[in-house]
Amino acid sequence: MPTIFTHALVPLAVGIALGRNAVSPRLIAAGMFVAMAPDFDTVAFKLGIAYADQFGHRGASHSFVFALAVALFGAMVAPWLRTTRWRAFWWLAFCTASHPLLDALTNGGLGVALLWPWSHERFFAPWRPIAVSPIGAGFFSARGVAVLWSELQWVVFPCAVLALQWAAIRRHFVERKVWRQRP
Ligand SMILES: [Zn+2]
Repeated sequence: MPTIFTHALVPLAVGIALGRNAVSPRLIAAGMFVAMAPDFDTVAFKLGIAYADQFGHRGASHSFVFALAVALFGAMVAPWLRTTRWRAFWWLAFCTASHPLLDALTNGGLGVALLWPWSHERFFAPWRPIAVSPIGAGFFSARGVAVLWSELQWVVFPCAVLALQWAAIRRHFVERKVWRQRP
């Protein structure tokens, strides 16, 4: 995985880019949470479940079906998220699915079981520039620093550019439209 908190940057960046009229701060917070949620499966190591098992790390919780289940739950609790059911569904589906797709870009471990339960195959993207994060204590090491640097380069920096640039373009056009509509 990229570091778990790095996953949360994707919904944050897309939320900032789209603006609060499209994605409220509450939805962004929910999106950040579900983008990290698939990695709660690392508890499998403590339970003695093997990495390659369908319920091991990067298994079932890293599938499109899991993203769909989270999205359906989100649609159910949409009133609490103060949004429409459709918006909650698509936003949370995107945020949850962003996790395994980002993991597929990492250069180590096993791939992600995107097509579980139909297939237990673990997938990787053809291009994998992100250094995989060591699990647990190994994070506080020279390799941990290399991972952070790799994530800065390939996730944090692109997310920041996307969010700020897109938000600036949106503001430019929306504000211009509002300005033109003034009597
Ligand atoms: Zn993961």
